[in-house]
Amino acid sequence: MFVNNLVTVDKEVSNLINEEFNRQKCNIELIASENFTSLAVRECLGSVLTNKYSEGRPNRRYYGGNEVIDKIELLCENRALEAFGLNSTEWAVNVQPYSGSPANFAVYTGLLNPGDRIMGLDLPSGGHLSHGFETEKKKISATSIYFQSKPYKVNSDGWIDYDELEINATDFKPNILICGASAYPRDFDYKRLREIADKIGAYLMADIAHISGLVVTKQMNNPFEYCDIVTSTTHKTLRGPRSGMIFVKKQDGNDRKINEAVFPGLQGGPHNHQIAGLAVQLKEVQKEEFKEYIKKVISNAQFLGEELKKLGFELSTDGTDNHLLLIKLKNFGITGSKMEKVCELVNISLNKNCVPGDKSALSPTGIRIGTPCMTTRGMNNEGWIKLAHWLKKCVDICVERQNRLGKKLRDWGKNIEEDVSIKELREEIINYCKELNFYEN
Ligand code: PLP
Repeated sequence: MFVNNLVTVDKEVSNLINEEFNRQKCNIELIASENFTSLAVRECLGSVLTNKYSEGRPNRRYYGGNEVIDKIELLCENRALEAFGLNSTEWAVNVQPYSGSPANFAVYTGLLNPGDRIMGLDLPSGGHLSHGFETEKKKISATSIYFQSKPYKVNSDGWIDYDELEINATDFKPNILICGASAYPRDFDYKRLREIADKIGAYLMADIAHISGLVVTKQMNNPFEYCDIVTSTTHKTLRGPRSGMIFVKKQDGNDRKINEAVFPGLQGGPHNHQIAGLAVQLKEVQKEEFKEYIKKVISNAQFLGEELKKLGFELSTDGTDNHLLLIKLKNFGITGSKMEKVCELVNISLNKNCVPGDKSALSPTGIRIGTPCMTTRGMNNEGWIKLAHWLKKCVDICVERQNRLGKKLRDWGKNIEEDVSIKELREEIINYCKELNFYEN
C-alpha cells in the first residue's frame, strides 16, 4: 500500500500525466491565467499534508492532531501579510479558500444578505464570472443567483469609464463595488473607486487574481491602500499552487464574518497541501529574483504588443500595463474561435476573448494572451519576435482557409488537421519549445 508508486498502480493515469507533461513542454502557453509553478510548490502538493482534516481556524480545530497543520497555516498567513506589506493589527487574511471563485463567494456570503447588491466589471468587458455575471435570459454565476448584480463596462477603446461607472453605481447602490478583471490590460484607479464607494456607502473589494504577482512586487497600483477587501487566486502571476486568499480589513468584525463564511459556511476541511505550497511561494515572491521575473513578464507583454502592432495587429487600449494583451481580430475579418483553433493545432495555447465592440459574447472577435508562462520558461526577445510572426502566420492560415472554404465554421474547419502549413508550423514550434527551460533542466 505505501510503497507502490503511480506507474506501478495505474499506468493509464501515469501515461496521461506524462502526455500532459509533454504537451506543456512542447507548447507555447499563452493562457494569461496560467503559470508553471516551482518544483518546491509541487512537492508540497504531492505531500502527506493532503491526508489531514483540519476544519476550523488554526488552534481552534474540530479534529485532533493538527499541531503541525496549525504551524503551516499560521506561517502561510504571516507570509501573506508580510509579502503584501500589511500590518496584522489592521488586516487579516484567510488562506483556506480552495480557489478564486470560492474566495469571492465567501466574501459576499460573509458581508451580505441574500438579495443584496454587487457591482463588478461585466464579463464581456473583461470581468470575471464570480463578480455577478448574468445574461438577459439567464443568471449564469451563483453570484448573480443569490445576489442582485449590475455590471459596469469598458468604453469603445477598452478602458474602464469611471464617470459612467459612478453614474451607474450611484443609481444601483451596490453593497459591494468590485474591481478586478480576467481580461483587462490596464491598471485600476483605486482612489477614484474608493471615492465612488464612499459616496454610495459600499464596501470596495479588489479581486487581484490575475495581477497579484504584479501587486506583490509593487509593479502595479496598490489596492490595499484603498480597499476594504482584497481577494486573489494564487496560481496565476503569483506562480503558486491552485488556491485562493482573502485579505480583509479588521473593521466591524468583517474578518470574523468572512472566516465563518469560509468555514463552516461554504467549505469543509482546508486543503493543507495547497496552503503549504502557498506558504512556500509567498516566501519566494519576496525575493529580488521574483521581482525581476515580474518586471520581465510586463516588459515582455509590452514588447510583444509592439511587435504585433508592426505586423498589423490591433490591441484593445493600444497596449498594456500588465501581463496580458487583448488582441482585436476584426480588421483581419476572422473570429477568435478560428484563431484559437489554428493556434491550438500549431501548439500555441491561447483563448478567444470578447473585445470592445463585440455584439455577441458567443462569437468573440478577439483573443487574450499572457506572458507569465513563457517568461517563466525564459523566452527572450528573439523568441517573442518569432512568436509575433507565428501568430501572424496563424491569422494568414485562418484567412486563407476562409477565402477558400467559406466562413461557416464547419466548412472552414474541414480536414484542418491535414493542412500542410499547419503541420509545418507545428514542427517549427515544437523544436523551438524543446530548447526552452522546463522542469528537468
Ligand atoms: N477572479 C478572477 C479575476 C479570475 O480571473 C479568476 C479566474 O480566472 C477567478 C477569480 C476565479 O478563480 P478560480 O478559477 O480559481 O476559481
